Amino acid sequence: MSIRLRLTLWYVFLLAIILVLFAGALYAVLSFSLSNEVDRRLQLRASEVETTLATVLAVQSDPRVFLLRGGRVTLPPVDTFAEPGVFLQLTTLEGVALSRSENLGAQTLAVTAATLAQVTRGEAVYANLTKDRAPLRVYIAPLTIRNQVLAAIVVAESLNDVSNTLRRLAVLLIAGIGAAVGFAFGVGAILAYTALAPIDRITQTASTIARSNDLTRRIEHKLTNDEVGRLAETFNAMLTRIEELFRAQQRFVADVSHELRSPLTAIRGNLDLLRRGALDDPAARQDAFAAIESEAARMQRLVQDLLLLAQADADVTPRVEKRLVELDTLLLDVFRQARLSAHGVKVTLGSEDQAQVFGDQDRLKQVFLNLLDNAIKYTPSGGQVTLAFNRADDWVRVTVADTGIGIPAKDLPHIFDRFYRVDKARSREQGGTGLGLAIVKTIIEAHGGRIEAASVAGKGSQFTVWLPAAK
Ligand code: ADP
Repeated sequence: MSIRLRLTLWYVFLLAIILVLFAGALYAVLSFSLSNEVDRRLQLRASEVETTLATVLAVQSDPRVFLLRGGRVTLPPVDTFAEPGVFLQLTTLEGVALSRSENLGAQTLAVTAATLAQVTRGEAVYANLTKDRAPLRVYIAPLTIRNQVLAAIVVAESLNDVSNTLRRLAVLLIAGIGAAVGFAFGVGAILAYTALAPIDRITQTASTIARSNDLTRRIEHKLTNDEVGRLAETFNAMLTRIEELFRAQQRFVADVSHELRSPLTAIRGNLDLLRRGALDDPAARQDAFAAIESEAARMQRLVQDLLLLAQADADVTPRVEKRLVELDTLLLDVFRQARLSAHGVKVTLGSEDQAQVFGDQDRLKQVFLNLLDNAIKYTPSGGQVTLAFNRADDWVRVTVADTGIGIPAKDLPHIFDRFYRVDKARSREQGGTGLGLAIVKTIIEAHGGRIEAASVAGKGSQFTVWLPAAK
């Protein structure tokens, strides 16, 4: 059963219960008060009759004997216009009707022996009778004179009006409830349909996307800040994210195969030459071996870098074993090492400070060697590379600045992306994999630090690393 139908049915069911309870209560209260009213009227009437008869009979020396002998008493008249359906009758304790109101005609209101026995004991009794298929409410009260019950005063009223009123009310209530429930069902169904229709659209779009693998599709939905609007928005945001990841994945695979293809081609080419004995010259053979070696080394670097990044992606913190590291010693070490490979570039040391951090010595070394390596790589000979580090509050700040070719502003935001190179040919020529800075960033972040790059094309670049200082 759909949510739509379930919602509507629940809604209608609850409404029907409330209406039925309300109508039932209304009917019961009205029926009770109308019957009460009739009973009260009958009682009043009986006491009026009793007063009148008492006055009439008071003149008799023995009212009982007078009545037994069939003495005539006149009942107070019934005003048929004011009180339609009210009947009076005086019945002896033996059950003989002595007098009757005129509207009774030839009819007698029968009183049972049991009732008469109760009346003889001085009790007043209510009873229900049916005369000519009309319901009657009857009140039988004792006529007491000089402490003696002489006869029974029978007052009856037709319940036609009451039952008609109640019947009309019942019909009205049933029809009203039926109409209300029908209306509520219609309106509820429309409301539920309009409220839930967007969910259907979302489901359809989702299944189309699932079937067609088209991640560029989005759910078309008006921007509303309701549950459905938020669902559509979240769903679209999720699709965007999946699409991004999917594209990144595709790009990554393409990049990796591309990167692996060139060293493999170089290795196979050189191997081919060697196998065919095309290289007679021992020097040329040595060159071929050297080329194979360097390409293999490049592939090895690439694979190592990829492994590290894959570990970081899988949220396995790239084996950062946190130990206390004398960062100043490490940086001086890296500085010395970099100086050896700086062909024609002047590598200098700027400010230096004592600095300790918690981290992985080898990884941190890799970071700074990489940064210095890049600085040297992208600085023409005659240029200068400066390494500086100092403590700033709870942080250690390390800068690697160069006076090299710089990075154009449009490329700057991307240099930490995997395989991003400003000048592809130049980078590859220099043995770069395009993964260096991506790895640097990953390692720094695994240490709880951050890295920033600033550069002016043609003037030089500066990379700043912030690492949390050990206390
Ligand atoms: P690569 O292996 O190509 O050096 P990196 O990830 O280390 O890869 O660097 C990404 C790109 O950023 C490089 O290709 C280069 O274009 C640019 N780059 C990095 N460092 C510098 C620098 N110090 N000066 C100028 N360009 C730089």
